[in-house]
Amino acid sequence: MDKKLGTRYAERVEGFRKYVQKNDIATALLMTDVKGDRSLRPSEQKLHKDYYLRIVEQSRDGIIIRGAKAHASWAPCSNELIILPCRAMKEEDKEYAIACAVPPNTDGIIMVQPERPVNFKEPNSWLDYPISSGDYSPDAVVVFNNVFVPNERVFMKEEWQLSGDLVHMFANFHRLMANIGKYAEIELLVGAAILAAEYNGLEKVSHIRNKIAWLMYYAEGLGALSQLACINCLFETETKLAYPNPMYTNMVKFMYADNFHQALKYVQDIAGGLLSTAPSSEDFLNSETGPLLEKYLRGKSEIPTEKRFKIMKLIADLSNVHKQVGAIHAEGSLQSQLLSIYALGDFEKYKAAAKRAGGIKDDKLHPVFSQLPDYPIR
Ligand SMILES: Cc1cc2nc3c(=O)[nH]c(=O)nc-3n(C[C@H](O)[C@H](O)[C@H](O)COP(=O)(O)OP(=O)(O)OC[C@H]3O[C@@H](n4cnc5c(N)ncnc54)[C@H](O)[C@@H]3O)c2cc1C
Repeated sequence: MDKKLGTRYAERVEGFRKYVQKNDIATALLMTDVKGDRSLRPSEQKLHKDYYLRIVEQSRDGIIIRGAKAHASWAPCSNELIILPCRAMKEEDKEYAIACAVPPNTDGIIMVQPERPVNFKEPNSWLDYPISSGDYSPDAVVVFNNVFVPNERVFMKEEWQLSGDLVHMFANFHRLMANIGKYAEIELLVGAAILAAEYNGLEKVSHIRNKIAWLMYYAEGLGALSQLACINCLFETETKLAYPNPMYTNMVKFMYADNFHQALKYVQDIAGGLLSTAPSSEDFLNSETGPLLEKYLRGKSEIPTEKRFKIMKLIADLSNVHKQVGAIHAEGSLQSQLLSIYALGDFEKYKAAAKRAGGIKDDKLHPVFSQLPDYPIR
């Protein structure tokens, strides 16, 4: 039971958790509303009221919701859609304070997927797109057109006071879990940079070594911060639920996102222009052009051209726009992490250190200073 408001949603959440566990259910998490004019709160939107998902009707058995969630990763492949609000709410926004779960085949739910970047029907798409041919996440726009949710699947209904807490607690877990995965992805990027340097015969060149060292610093920094977030976990006071340290989770996501394009810049610089102009696998497998490409696109003599071709395709695929935008926006934009870091910062600790070092005392001034006139001193 929530002590602040006397609600009993925890029992329903626990019931849903057991159902998910017992039935091995795949879930998608839908937090991001389409939001309309970003400078306006949910209840202030002008054109219509549905830019944030909201409760349009309540009955004894449940609620009816309307609105749309954007960028919902894996929603089309899931068994249950878990819905959370995407921001702190005020009282006037209370119809938007909604958390619930609903199966994707419920009447009134429509999903629209983005264009697929890779044509998987091409027989050799895995050669040209080694990552995205097997790792395409369908991030759908999910429209809720008057969808009924029964009471037992409603986990928050108008409790606008809890909306911000829910958003922040979700971000603690999500930013960490997503970025532990990113550590592995950056490891792969560093490996690709090292191999590209070797295949081009440039592994001993000092500016290339510096760039590889920077990439290693980036990867291992992310790994270290992720570990620190787990080791220094905190405990929620009422439930004793352990959760990742929010300062470190926000730091790891920010560090990842803020440096991703810099990392790509270094890897692309090391690999060379073939990243963007490499012929397709079809040309390499062609009996006429294949031997010519094998002869002329080789780098270091002892490395077969095929290896150089594959590393170029891998780096090009790791640089795709889906990954670039995902780095910045998935798990919240850069600014959302900076806001959290600022809010979590121990201002008194930092100020105390500076005061101690500068001999600044709050209680008494040195006699010389106490004689000086008030500011401004002319
Ligand atoms: C690949 C990918 C996967 C994703 N998966 C999921 C998912 O599974 N589930 C989910 O719920 N979400 C998911 N997201 C959504 C992600 O959390 C959002 O993209 C992110 O929070 C930014 O929201 P937005 O895209 O609406 O951009 P915007 O909110 O429009 O942000 C654009 C810029 O405007 C700034 N901005 C926005 N509003 C304000 C304001 N009021 N004041 C000042 N600055 C503002 C932002 O800081 C940013 O700089 C995913 C996103 C991506 C790219």
